Amino acid sequence: MARVFNFSAGPAMLPEAVLKQAQQEMLDWQGSGMCVAEMSHRGKEFMSIAEKTEADLRELMAIPDNYKVLFLQGGASSQFAMVPMNLLRGKTSADYLNTGAWSKKAIAEGKRYCDVNIAGVSPEGGMASVPTQSDLKLTDGAAYVHYTPNETIGGVEFPYVPETGDVPLVADMSSTILSRPVDVSKFGVIYAGSQKNIGPAGMAIVIVRDDLIGETLDGTPAMFNYQIHADNGSMYNTPPTYTWYMAGLAFAWLKENGGLAAMARTNERKAGKLYAAIDGSDFYANPVAPACRSWMNVPFTLANADLDATFLAEASSVGLKTLKGHRSVGGMRASIYNAMPEAGVDALVSFMADFEKRYG
Ligand SMILES: *Cc1c(COP(=O)(O)O)cnc(C)c1O
Repeated sequence: MARVFNFSAGPAMLPEAVLKQAQQEMLDWQGSGMCVAEMSHRGKEFMSIAEKTEADLRELMAIPDNYKVLFLQGGASSQFAMVPMNLLRGKTSADYLNTGAWSKKAIAEGKRYCDVNIAGVSPEGGMASVPTQSDLKLTDGAAYVHYTPNETIGGVEFPYVPETGDVPLVADMSSTILSRPVDVSKFGVIYAGSQKNIGPAGMAIVIVRDDLIGETLDGTPAMFNYQIHADNGSMYNTPPTYTWYMAGLAFAWLKENGGLAAMARTNERKAGKLYAAIDGSDFYANPVAPACRSWMNVPFTLANADLDATFLAEASSVGLKTLKGHRSVGGMRASIYNAMPEAGVDALVSFMADFEKRYG
């Protein structure tokens, strides 16, 4: 079967060049006679993969030297607990912004460890959006401010980075990391699960300013302690070696393709085409205020929801897969991460026009 355009929110498409290289190296990584999945994580072959992967990520994101980069198990969801365990540092409260489903999960977990102040929430009514900087009610004594720059389910993205003064800003970038350049120095912690815009599932990347680590809540398990992972080069235990390797292939691919500035231009253009198709028709609608629309996850509905199943079936039959919206939202969602070729967006846009002609 030919490859399809897979609009899944995650695990999501990987660049074809990355898959081909992994295939080529599957049985014999660079003369080692082994698959990367068979290698000792402490051997020189894997160590060289690990080091190059980190160096390439540091270069792509221009990560300053005073930040550690950790490659951890447990996905982004473990970070919902690791962040309070490591960042409270004697304080008892933290500020959280609530802009949707993933914010709520982070908040629920945060409440297990500290007093959570909701310092900003998406306005009710009208199109979906995020609180503005002047809406934020940051509290004195908060250990950190946590937010979700891109809500994967709602398709709502912050058009700005919140200013939090001296209070560390923590960002769950699971579905937007590497989609464009960011100024890492504005953040205390950036974390992301691997399966959306990085590589296969099974890993989280955590970028943490080094003065924020070293003091944990009593009872914090070793596996949840940033300091222990930092001191051990993310090899306190066996890391997710194959996902780490695949992430490295994806980072090399990003570098070969112009890095994050080039990616941002392509992503903005891809998203722009899809939103233009939705806005240019009464048959399709997107519920998000234009300034807060995600470049990565584009939810949309049909004017007549009775046609949803037909839309999905016909799209699938022409190789446009996994367009069903999240079960909590309904409708459709097209996730168009870095690895989604622009041709995939073009194919979706023309399918949508054709479907409207036939059913509109
Ligand atoms: C997918 C997602 C998560 C959860 O990631 P896991 O790796 O499955 O734990 C958390 N936050 C955001 C924004 C996500 O998109």
